[in-house]
Amino acid sequence: MSANDQLPPSTEEREPLPLSLLNDLLYCERRAALKTVEGYRSANEHTNRGDIVHEHADLAGFEVAKGVTLLRALPAWSRKFGLNGKCDIVERRPDGSLFPVEFKLGKRRKWENDDAQLCAQALCLEEMFEIPVRHGAIFHADSKRRREVEFHEELRARTTEAIRRLHELVRSSSVPPAEYRDACQECSLFEVCLPKATGTESRATRLARQLFET
Ligand code: SF4
Repeated sequence: MSANDQLPPSTEEREPLPLSLLNDLLYCERRAALKTVEGYRSANEHTNRGDIVHEHADLAGFEVAKGVTLLRALPAWSRKFGLNGKCDIVERRPDGSLFPVEFKLGKRRKWENDDAQLCAQALCLEEMFEIPVRHGAIFHADSKRRREVEFHEELRARTTEAIRRLHELVRSSSVPPAEYRDACQECSLFEVCLPKATGTESRATRLARQLFET
């Protein structure tokens, strides 16, 4: 199935959603819902470090080095996919191609949510500039290394499906139940979510279910 087969319905009547929410959705749908439906945004060590990593990329501007124009904090949007946000860096190369770069915490490693967020930026750039965007990179702050990402059909299809789920989640205005797992330990919404207390198989949930069993 190609990415075009999975296009979300018309975005004309929808509020555009932040590109960064895609990353949250793929990390945990409850996390994305708590942010967008309930409006929570808590900071922890990981988000604070993330904010610092993004600080220098948040200042809009451009510079030219070796024939490559580096556009910083470039606004990006897509009417087709109902998204908006910004690209940390977009390289405009001598052949006219565009190459988005997203800054992330940690060492060089592969995360599906980072790749999908970057791919969504590429979808925005393609719509804005009407040119194909075939590659980008994640810059890992701790190891100061880049990992190149190809925007192949499979990644485009996964990203488009995540965009569709994100719009569906926001439309439903519902918050999925918690499911405690390893990723919860690094989640900045842990104290709000209380996954051990509110999870589908938590003691509190089991007791509540038993209370109404006959
Ligand atoms: S604490 Fe866990 S279940 Fe709750 S929002 Fe974060 S990742 Fe999701």
